[in-house]
Amino acid sequence: MDIRILIPIIMAVLLLSWVIFCGIQFIRHSKDVIVRSDFTGHVKCEKCGTEYTVNAAEFTKSAMAKSVSVTKTKFVNGALINQPHYKYYAKKFYCPVCGKRRYARVLNINDINQAMKKPMLQSGIRWLILMMTGGLLILAATGIPMYFANKAAARQVEDLKQQQYEDFLEDYVE
Ligand SMILES: [Zn+2]
Repeated sequence: MDIRILIPIIMAVLLLSWVIFCGIQFIRHSKDVIVRSDFTGHVKCEKCGTEYTVNAAEFTKSAMAKSVSVTKTKFVNGALINQPHYKYYAKKFYCPVCGKRRYARVLNINDINQAMKKPMLQSGIRWLILMMTGGLLILAATGIPMYFANKAAARQVEDLKQQQYEDFLEDYVE
């Protein structure tokens, strides 16, 4: 295969892999951010109605969540911001009364969200910068061989033209 076709394919595969890698790392890192923030969730068991508290680590254990949210658009410091506001948010936690994992409504979900906004944003920006830096490096790393491949190809065309011209001259002169 022509190297000038192969290089863009390699570049696209590398870029895509890098973006996916960053996305996965961001999700993993987000979990750490939540665990480290150490908030307390006030929850109410949907089965027996018992209210108990869960810590940040327990929050990340379960991926199963039920929620009803409305997006509120607020005007803050001269900028419009969209903020999801939960009317209802429930997750499976270990209920001490039921003795098993049951859905429990998180009563202070909006406070938790508010508290998590800044560290999550910082983590997001960090990964976005890393993603872009890596992307530019991949572009540069594949752009350099591409440049030389193009140059070599251009020279080949030049040589071919020159050859044809000489052949033509030869034929003409003879
Ligand atoms: Zn319960």
